[in-house]
Amino acid sequence: MTEPFSAGIGGGGFFVYYDAKHKKVHTIDGRESGPATMTEDIFIDPADGLPYDFQEARVSGLSVGTPGTLATWEAAAGKWGTRSLGSLLQPAAKVADKGFAVDNTFRQQIADNAAAFAQFGSTSELYLPAGAPPVVGSTQRNPDLADTYRLIAKRGTGVFYRGSVGADIVRTVQNPPVAGAPGAPWAYPIRPGDLRLSDLANYRLRFPAPTKSGYRGLDVYGMSTPSSGGTAVGEALNILEKTDLSKVSMTQALHRYAEASALSFADRNRYVGAYTPQSTLDKLISDGWATQRACQINPAKALTKPVPPGDINASGCTPAAVGGPVEDGQSTTNLTVADKWGNVVEYTLTIEQTGGNAMVVPGRGFLLNNEMTDFNFTGTQGTAPDPNLPGPNKRPRSSMSPTIVLKHGKPFLALGSPGGATIITTVLQVLINRVDLGMTLPEAMAAPRASQRNTAGIQAEPAFHTQYGPGLEALGHSFSADVPELGAATAIEFRPGGGMIASAEPVRRGSGAAGVVRVRR
Ligand code: GLU
Repeated sequence: MTEPFSAGIGGGGFFVYYDAKHKKVHTIDGRESGPATMTEDIFIDPADGLPYDFQEARVSGLSVGTPGTLATWEAAAGKWGTRSLGSLLQPAAKVADKGFAVDNTFRQQIADNAAAFAQFGSTSELYLPAGAPPVVGSTQRNPDLADTYRLIAKRGTGVFYRGSVGADIVRTVQNPPVAGAPGAPWAYPIRPGDLRLSDLANYRLRFPAPTKSGYRGLDVYGMSTPSSGGTAVGEALNILEKTDLSKVSMTQALHRYAEASALSFADRNRYVGAYTPQSTLDKLISDGWATQRACQINPAKALTKPVPPGDINASGCTPAAVGGPVEDGQSTTNLTVADKWGNVVEYTLTIEQTGGNAMVVPGRGFLLNNEMTDFNFTGTQGTAPDPNLPGPNKRPRSSMSPTIVLKHGKPFLALGSPGGATIITTVLQVLINRVDLGMTLPEAMAAPRASQRNTAGIQAEPAFHTQYGPGLEALGHSFSADVPELGAATAIEFRPGGGMIASAEPVRRGSGAAGVVRVRR
């Protein structure tokens, strides 16, 4: 798989691992962390006191956090792997050297980013040969990246976090390699950031306990903070569990899905950020809390959106707290892998936007992340505190939801997806499709998707809107403009007796890959 615009060592991610021998789920938080000098007003323009336009913040040095991906790979290989990171990087170096065939999706991702990529000589050399996106069928090589991988393989990750590669990252952030290519107008100034060598040297992975929630006899394990994925999926499932979805009409099931998701998003936005106390996370994912939230759902009428968040200190039904909605972004890579011993990896990694901050580190061949724009630029919760404002060394809230579901203590499903905040609803929807709505895993993945993230309208794929829109509209739901697709999931189902069903997208994002890699004997 080659997804340089969604994944790579310039970014971060969350790794969830089921250890078959010890029957235990572990996680690695390899999220990017903000520079030590990052202040709450980093995305406020000093000239006018207003937040930057998103693209201005994204294509800048301000948006770059210390990448955690390489450290994640090293830790995963060291703890649970059978080979060293150095040997694992060799096949990737080979692909980078030899290249891969450009397909439509890859070409389109470049075309969508052409104006931003053209700003930087290092990026346009690699991805805009002759000033335009490469043609479909041509070979995309990246010898600089091959050299970077080989250097890391030889010298270890110190060369990245405390050595020459790190120095190049810092130089790129502090002094963006602007080319100012003619014919590619860019509406914004390109601002430097203040990521320093010390930020890279001080980067540490975290190994938080996974979130855990029960759903119809299954144990659902997810990612804890700074991702909101585990708690948001868990809370919505707990709310959904109050109804037997397999016994109601499809319209009612989807009505519940939309309502549970909106309620869960309201609470996520109000309470979940990098520093949310464990007691608050525990409360949000408790059955008692789901009862307090689920009682608002009216089978005959959709709630008015946005719904207010719940007051976690109050008791009884619908305790409203002060707060407001929030929205966010798109792209990323998801991997689901299992081995013959029954170990399972569910890993979502990203550089945030497709194309990250648009800066390829000169001579190193990889794009930098713009993960810091996952912070809210200003408070979103009215007079209540916003848990996701920027701060020194802070990690921005994520929606990535790598999820492993156990049945009677053994893996049953593993799944995850890209898609910014829609990741949460995609994981939720695939789960209920498979567990409650009578679909096989491939059907659950292929089914049309919709996402209600506590906004006025449901965001839907056209096929969903056509099929289920009238029924949901009759209940008072409204739809915002359709989007061509939501998510690009991967999943594995573990069958009794040891079989596995590997499933990827049949169509979305140019379709995915699922299969068995044979071990040479
Ligand atoms: N930056 C996003 C997050 O952490 C993921 C990017 C995406 O999937 O679009 O939630």
